[in-house]
Amino acid sequence: MDMRLQISPGMLRSEFVSKITELSGQDINLCYQCGKCSAGCPMSFVMDLLPNQIIHSVQLGLTEDVIRSRTPWLCASCLVCTVRCPKGIDIASVMEAVRQISLRKSEDFIDLAGLERGTLAELPAIALVSGFRKLTG
Ligand code: SF4
Ligand code: SF4
Repeated sequence: MDMRLQISPGMLRSEFVSKITELSGQDINLCYQCGKCSAGCPMSFVMDLLPNQIIHSVQLGLTEDVIRSRTPWLCASCLVCTVRCPKGIDIASVMEAVRQISLRKSEDFIDLAGLERGTLAELPAIALVSGFRKLTG
């Protein structure tokens, strides 16, 4: 199987990249992949894409990879990445922008009606709130 990644000018200048830039107010193209954000992230051990990989994927316009990633939802908004970035990129704001774009797509990531009472009682409140926001937004 050919695993090469095809990058096109359209992907690099996609609406997704513009929207992330607009919502976060960050110039993600300043990132030079030093990895300092990921090295300090307290949630990196459960992330499928590390914070620097999210930034890199946004740079490349890999919309689906970013939207499908669990990382923005596991981000604790602690700002460690933001203060560590030598390029002054507010990575936490980029994570928030990804969450906003994802919610606006109104896709079903949580089927609230299908969850059992016991599961509902144990879920983090923010997971339920995000589900409700999708249904009411
Ligand atoms: S704000 Fe999110 S991505 Fe950044 S260090 Fe904290 S948990 Fe990790
Ligand atoms: S710390 Fe900043 S420059 Fe380094 S990888 Fe993370 S976002 Fe990029």
